Amino acid sequence: MEHREFGASIDWEPSALGFGAMRLPTDDGEVDRERAIEMIRTAIDGGVSYIDTAWPYHDGESERVVGEALEDGYREQVTLATKMPSWELETRDDLDEYFEKQLDRLGTEHVDCYLLHALDHEYWETYQRLDVFEWLERKQATGKIDHIGFSFHDDLDLFEEIVDAYDWDFCQIQYNYLDEEFQAGRDGLVYAAQRGLGVIVMEPLRGGTLASDLPNPVQDAFEDADADRSPVEWALQWLWDQPEVSTVLSGMSTRDQVRENVEIAAESGVGQFSVDDHATIERARDRFEALMAVDCTGCDYCTPCPTGVEIPRNFDLYNRIEMGDEPDAVLEEYDSMDETARADACVACGECETACPQNLEIISLLEETHGRLQSARA
Ligand code: SF4
Ligand code: SF4
Repeated sequence: MEHREFGASIDWEPSALGFGAMRLPTDDGEVDRERAIEMIRTAIDGGVSYIDTAWPYHDGESERVVGEALEDGYREQVTLATKMPSWELETRDDLDEYFEKQLDRLGTEHVDCYLLHALDHEYWETYQRLDVFEWLERKQATGKIDHIGFSFHDDLDLFEEIVDAYDWDFCQIQYNYLDEEFQAGRDGLVYAAQRGLGVIVMEPLRGGTLASDLPNPVQDAFEDADADRSPVEWALQWLWDQPEVSTVLSGMSTRDQVRENVEIAAESGVGQFSVDDHATIERARDRFEALMAVDCTGCDYCTPCPTGVEIPRNFDLYNRIEMGDEPDAVLEEYDSMDETARADACVACGECETACPQNLEIISLLEETHGRLQSARA
């Protein structure tokens, strides 16, 4: 697998494909540890050298399962990344408390790449108040952290401010062909790379939206192209064509997806996209944008909802209706959901809206979702 540059100051090159441990296989809502460990090791055996997790993924199970997967000699083969839960912090003592718990969960003495998670205006202020850089540098000096970075969900102006505020090693941004101008976007990618940061890409398939069950007009855009690529290949190779991208984190949840992505990554490289390929992506993007009702990536940051509303699942159903899925099938799924999980069970407490990195107006969108699904019954 191709290895790519990771910023100006770091002399190792991560694999083009990284493993994002945020969508591990589950069984009855719990992480299926055996399958998850098998998947992570399959990825590493296939050449993946960057493994990314975080405090909240799978309610903490992700860090534990990653720790287990990296036993038996796998830890030494990878760069391990995890993230400080920014939203949990009140005092400086919290920094140590969460970090030590993470080392314990991961079963490791040190983290190779440590990120401040999901920076936005609020969390950025929190970190400045807590003088986080002094803390990070202390951890670096004691060998507990190698490289310092941040992941990001806010506007481009703040992104540039944060990039300029510290001598970061790397950053992580949401980026895919639908999000070229969203949050940091392409401008942020170039801005960070030009200042010597490695750039990790998350949500390359936008929570699976770009991977399968594409709406017909989008699928047609790819089928009409000269190049013969699957939707996943189009999305991933578009990213790897850009020299500023270091590693692309894919949130794989089956071993087949791991194998498919590893195979695609074996063909990655800058300069693989022709002018026609770029035109195809533009057509696909235009058609997607014309159809998509809710810009939900399925990241799950807004869950659990206290009353049980399955927020991303409802939005997925809304998008599927708008993108031309068979209404009966969509309605059958909606009706099979627990009543408390459906869009109309929302009591508008507002808890989820502050957690959404896409800044979606979840309450009104749920109302809209329910209305749209009801109108589809006619
Ligand atoms: S606003 Fe609605 S969906 Fe969001 S957490 Fe509250 S009840 Fe759940
Ligand atoms: S509504 Fe927002 S937080 Fe919830 S899954 Fe969608 S994008 Fe993520």
